[in-house]
Amino acid sequence: MKLMTPWWVTPCSVTPGQDANPRHWLTATPLTSGLASDGSGNDASMKSALWKSLRFGVAQCRAGEGRLAMGRRRRRFMIWEWLAVLSAGDGSCLYCFSRSQTMDHVIPFSDGGADELKNLLPICRPCNRTKGKKNPVVWHVAMDLCLRWSGTGSLLDGAALGDKSLRELYLLTHQQVLEALDELEEVQAEVNDPGRTAWFRRNFEAYGYPSARFGVPRARAQFDKRIREGRAKGYPTAEEELPELLKQLGIGS
Ligand SMILES: [Zn+2]
Repeated sequence: MKLMTPWWVTPCSVTPGQDANPRHWLTATPLTSGLASDGSGNDASMKSALWKSLRFGVAQCRAGEGRLAMGRRRRRFMIWEWLAVLSAGDGSCLYCFSRSQTMDHVIPFSDGGADELKNLLPICRPCNRTKGKKNPVVWHVAMDLCLRWSGTGSLLDGAALGDKSLRELYLLTHQQVLEALDELEEVQAEVNDPGRTAWFRRNFEAYGYPSARFGVPRARAQFDKRIREGRAKGYPTAEEELPELLKQLGIGS
């Protein structure tokens, strides 16, 4: 019998810095201690292994909280980097679809997540506040169960939540987490596309860092049309943009 590792055991037992793909967390920690040498396991041994592993995970979390952020300083991002992240996807928050306002560390900075474009996604401020230091898996499960919550009773009498038991809800949530991770990965791939990154850098690097006089919202409003045009043209290279630039300057044919 194949033993599935539950999502809530794994996040803390893998060092995120070493393996930053959230999906790997879902399968990274086999609960071998509950299995016989031939890979089989009985219910009691599996249950005991699950609880042992969960307790270990919680203890690791408490001991390690913030440890991976120690000694690391957050970097400042330039206007072009803000624009590249905030306009990814369709420019909306990945979690609630309102307009994006800030950047989310997919793997939280405090868990060792990189302070670089490859670990950043567009998010709105309210979602960023409530997501806090959670990784996307934990955050999605919490949101999903919260949305479905109408629970009464206890686990022993089936913990009816609407018409579903907590076990049934967990399986539904599990599927939704995988779908959400697919979406996250898609937008991360867009943010990390080298051609796209080069286009943002070339077009907006001269604007430097956000300041009180020229902040991110203003830059976004000002360059919105240009970014949409760039996207429609597939983020052309400098060579591809040159003829049009010359035409605008009245040089050449
Ligand atoms: Zn949001």
